[in-house]
Amino acid sequence: MAGLPLPPNVHVSRHPLVAHKLSLLRDRTTTPKLFRELVRELTWLLGYEAMADLSTQAREVETPLESMTGRQVEPKVGLIPVLRAGLGMVDAMLELMPSAEVWHIGLYRAERTLKPVEYYNKLPDAATVQLCLILDPMLATGGSAAATVDILKAWGAARVKQVSLIAAPEGIATLSAAHPDVDIHVAAVDRALNERGYIVPGLGDAGDRQFGTFAGPSSEPGHGAMDETAEVVRRLQRDLSR
Ligand code: URA
Repeated sequence: MAGLPLPPNVHVSRHPLVAHKLSLLRDRTTTPKLFRELVRELTWLLGYEAMADLSTQAREVETPLESMTGRQVEPKVGLIPVLRAGLGMVDAMLELMPSAEVWHIGLYRAERTLKPVEYYNKLPDAATVQLCLILDPMLATGGSAAATVDILKAWGAARVKQVSLIAAPEGIATLSAAHPDVDIHVAAVDRALNERGYIVPGLGDAGDRQFGTFAGPSSEPGHGAMDETAEVVRRLQRDLSR
């Protein structure tokens, strides 16, 4: 699975600080406090890269010494954190882009089928932003991401980008096939999904690791493989090797 050429819409950060912080994030001994700090720092760095091509327009500025023509970012930006793990990426993005609007779309992955199920969507009728940044630390099967893009495009968003910390090749293939115009910014592309839908080597459950919720059965990797989940993963992997 690893080593397949990446489509042109995928941008993997080559910044050494990103690689360093991502390794700390993956470490199983990293506490939730440090994990949250690293998610925030990685989001700054990836957000900076993801917004490198935003258009700007001229803006007159009076400095204490004279007038000059500066620049201001043109598109209105919407942040769409995928609940719940994407929440940890919002504050960092708002620090980079304080005028961004934050819109919530609730999708969960049905445990057995891994299919996205929408449970919260309060978007107004017409789009209020031009560029939407979907924030989800883990681009796993790509099902939720593709469904979120469907919703945002139907809403009227002119441009959508996905910002994730780690992507699986299966998730990149699913999202890129459905929406080749969506840029995907990531810190790393890992080897594959395992039979339980986790990215490997990955970092485990990004929500549990941020919020310290390790008690639930679904947050224990290796705790009883589910046939249907494994079948969905096998199907994605067969599609990928064609
Ligand atoms: N979501 C996670 O939090 N981790 C994975 O590995 C895959 C999906």
